[in-house]
Amino acid sequence: MRESEGGHNSYDVLILGGGPAGAATGIALKRLDSGLHIALIEKSDYSSFRIGETLPPHAQAVLRGLGVWDAFIATSPMTSYGTRAAWGNAEPYENEFIFSLHGNGWHLDRNAFDAMLRAEAIKAGVDVHINSAPCGPPRRHQHWALPVRIKGSTCELNARFMVDATGRHSWFASRLGVRYQVYDQLAAIFAFYRFDPGSIAVDNCTLIEATQHGWWYSAMLPQSRMAVAFMADAPYLRQISWRSLEEWRSLHGATSHTRRRIENAIPLGTPTLCSAASRRLEIPVGEDWLAVGDAASTFDPLSSQGIIKGLHSGVCAARSICRYVRGHKGALAEYANFIERQYSNYLVARSAYYRVEQRWPDSPFWQERQKTLQLGPEHELQMPATGDVSSDAPARGLSKLSTSAGTDHSSWVSSHKT
Ligand SMILES: Cc1cc2nc3c(=O)[nH]c(=O)nc-3n(C[C@H](O)[C@H](O)[C@H](O)COP(=O)(O)OP(=O)(O)OC[C@H]3O[C@@H](n4cnc5c(N)ncnc54)[C@H](O)[C@@H]3O)c2cc1C
Repeated sequence: MRESEGGHNSYDVLILGGGPAGAATGIALKRLDSGLHIALIEKSDYSSFRIGETLPPHAQAVLRGLGVWDAFIATSPMTSYGTRAAWGNAEPYENEFIFSLHGNGWHLDRNAFDAMLRAEAIKAGVDVHINSAPCGPPRRHQHWALPVRIKGSTCELNARFMVDATGRHSWFASRLGVRYQVYDQLAAIFAFYRFDPGSIAVDNCTLIEATQHGWWYSAMLPQSRMAVAFMADAPYLRQISWRSLEEWRSLHGATSHTRRRIENAIPLGTPTLCSAASRRLEIPVGEDWLAVGDAASTFDPLSSQGIIKGLHSGVCAARSICRYVRGHKGALAEYANFIERQYSNYLVARSAYYRVEQRWPDSPFWQERQKTLQLGPEHELQMPATGDVSSDAPARGLSKLSTSAGTDHSSWVSSHKT
């Protein structure tokens, strides 16, 4: 840490949240300008289970562009050759990555993946503090000042620029009172399993199974583990029983394909509920701050795009921050524009995929999903729209990323869970 004259810890950029988006922002910033002093504050120690495990084939370009490809391969991700989906039809059909220009995808040990990115951020020169979190509201007087609890003791960190990478709760933007737009009430109940080595041969495709009130997915993970999730609307999940293993078993017992896939698996703990709603900040930037990854916008897990979106937004954010601190005040508006356009494309793709399933026309879950959604009346930005971050001239050391722009319709087609 750098000590300022006032005795506080002073940084150029302070990143809150050390998931894929926060780590990518830190790494990309250091690659663009090694002289920047950057701190990353992460509240966890990366030890508890994290959900979100499938990386689509085109992630390779982003990981290579960030300079973390070798470290990624060293985490031994499991090769994924595609998906099998009972979607729109009772019998599953295959959607193989073999037809993707980018090759195969991967199933991750998410904790190992996130910890790898943290290690790469440290290697790049970012001051990373785990088990640390803000313990009071941010204040602003020329620079940002934030009380932070770092490994048990409280200190005040100062920063010229703040990045909100705290995931779907958008801790920092919420403290500033930034509103967000919510598009659905999707929630996930998920559980992890393990297989005794050699007990059965489970293929390493992701399996998707649509049901009347939502859909299931199951994905093999490294070390003979599997993630299983049921995606449905939060009000429906409040009406049913799922918390005990017994109740959870009877829930997946009513499926056709998922049930067979996990009948020999051993549960690792009880099921957990989390939000999977599609939502976005109305404005993901402000004076001397911006939001990246899920803190800026979240996608339906059907897309399998959340991690790559987080990495890519971190890279785009880093470019914009570098330009902004050098005096290009329009750089943040460009970033905000990029996030908005990406979200608009996402909403179109989301409705198109859900419309494929027509077996339950009276189900509120499917009726809601098949509506045409738009960004919303409040989406207009308060700032001039001046360009497209993703099509900027390639930044130093990150040129491969300029062609792998976030989530257009075609990238979803090649990588979504169905
Ligand atoms: C059921 C489900 C399945 C999914 N499946 C996939 C998938 O197959 N593929 C895919 O690509 N995506 C998937 N996703 C989405 C994916 O997990 C997220 O999009 C991705 O993790 C977003 O990365 P992020 O860095 O923005 O946020 P996160 O991964 O949420 O990271 C945020 C970090 O900030 C930390 N933090 C939070 N608050 C604070 C605070 N106040 N101070 C300091 N630190 C803080 C957290 O500990 C965390 O480490 C899935 C999501 C769900 C819900």
